[in-house]
Amino acid sequence: MSLYDFPCEYCPGTVHERVLDREPINHHRGIVILENVPIGVCDRCGAHYVAAPVLKRAEAILKSDRPPGRTLTVPVEGY
Ligand SMILES: [Zn+2]
Repeated sequence: MSLYDFPCEYCPGTVHERVLDREPINHHRGIVILENVPIGVCDRCGAHYVAAPVLKRAEAILKSDRPPGRTLTVPVEGY
């Protein structure tokens, strides 16, 4: 069963599951990049949706004492 398949909040499109190579997941504890992750993508406007189990996985990584598989350095700058 898909985590997604529901109407888009932003347009008349439908959200379908797509497994993405790499997607940054925003959690209130921080940002985690998950690989091969099932994300909901609207077939019309392309909006991304993150299901609760994916957020839970991101949270578990952020809360874990174990180092993650890899760490990237991400540039941050004002627009
Ligand atoms: Zn949409």
